[in-house]
This record gives sequence, structure tokens and C-alpha cells, in this order.
Amino acid sequence: MLYLTIYLTFISAILGAVMGSFLNCWAMRYETGEKYPRGRSRCPRCGHVLSAVELVPVLSWIALRGRCRSCHEPISVRYPITELIGAAVFAGIYLKYGLSPYTAELMILAGCLMLMAFIDFDTMILPNGPMIMALISWAAFLPAHEDWKRRAVSGIITALVLGAIILTVSLIMDRVTKRESLGGGDIKLLALLALYFGPWQSLLLVILSCLIGLTFAFALRAKEKPFPFGPAIAIGAVAVAMWGEEVVGWYGGLF
Ligand SMILES: [Zn+2]
Repeated sequence: MLYLTIYLTFISAILGAVMGSFLNCWAMRYETGEKYPRGRSRCPRCGHVLSAVELVPVLSWIALRGRCRSCHEPISVRYPITELIGAAVFAGIYLKYGLSPYTAELMILAGCLMLMAFIDFDTMILPNGPMIMALISWAAFLPAHEDWKRRAVSGIITALVLGAIILTVSLIMDRVTKRESLGGGDIKLLALLALYFGPWQSLLLVILSCLIGLTFAFALRAKEKPFPFGPAIAIGAVAVAMWGEEVVGWYGGLF
């Protein structure tokens, strides 16, 4: 059993690394107007088509010491970082939820979140495509939950109520601070995640996202530029998916 767990965790990590790599390329090409990645992977500087040995997540980058084999220009550290993020998130989900439909559901959600976070990081835009994908996936996996009726009702009510509250608060904040506090995409994403997490874990998600977002804002303040909130929500959502139930249970146990 232990060997099987180690083996499947390893497989999940590889799957996650490949997903992270693919979604990062998708995000980087999104800016250039391509809807999804097409054709073979190339060096963005010299156009050198990558061979199989240059396509191994993380390891290729280390083996090449972060430089293109053809033009020797540096390859962004963003490639191995996004691959490592994907590997860690997918392995974590498998270790936590094992071989279950929920693992598949969370991996799809994590993939959508990574794509949104990478694109938002580059462009300050949270695209609708992956949000619709996550919405469809939520509905498709509903019957796999034993308490699917309760999950559906509490998810939809939470999404509507939380969405309305956040929208109102952000409109008031916009008035007070005279600039856009939360984008429409951020509000849509939080409402979408409320479907997945229900009332208490969604509340935890909002608090976590704000804390992570504030940390980012402080870190980026040196550059005096607005920061994207999407990556903060995505990180918060992964944390809630992993530990939300325990935190809410522990907090509820205090009373
Ligand atoms: Zn090159």
C-alpha cells in the first residue's frame, strides 16, 4: 500500500508539473493573442524547437543551467517555478484525498486556477474561459458527492450571497478610495469558488485571499504598480481545499 501511495503521488507530481508547464505556456502566449498554445515548444528568443530532452519539467532547466541550448540566452526561472507549483499542488491533492472523484475535481479546479493566476499575473485580467470550465466541472462532479443536494443548495446560496456582499463592499470602497479596489473578475472568481466551498470555508477563503493579497501589495509596493488579486485568490483557494475543513472544524470547536 505504501509503495502504491508513493508511486501514485509521484505520478500526480509529474502530471502536475506537465500541467503547470503547459498552463504557463498558455498564459505567456495569451498575451500575444493566441487563444491556446499551438505547435511545438520553442525558445522565445531564437525560435529553436525544443527536443524531447529539453522538455522534461524542472530537470531540463537545471540540466541546461537555465540557458537555451541553441542561443545560450537565459530561460526565465518562471518555467521551473510554475512546473514545481503544479507538481506540489497535484501531489498534495492526491496525498490528501487519495484515489477519489474529489481528487480529480480538485485537480481540474487547480488547473483552472493556475491558468487564471498566471494570466492575471501578466495582464491584470482574469479570463472567463477557465472560470466557465471550473463552473462546468463543479456541476459535472456534483453527482459524485454523497450529499450532492446539500452541496448544490449551500454552494449556490453562498455564491449568490457572498457575490452580492463583495460586490457591494467593493463598490463602496471604490467610492471612498476613488479607484478600483476589486476587479469584476475577482468578484466572479470568489463567487465561483463559493460554489465549491460553501459558507464557512468561503469566508475563510475571503480572509485568506485578503491577507495574501496585502502581503503581495506590500512586496510589490517598491514598484509602485497595481497588483493582480487573482493569484492571491488562487493560492487561498488551494489552501482552503487542502485544510479548510480542519480549520473551520477547529474554529467551530472553540465555541
Ligand atoms: Zn534560444
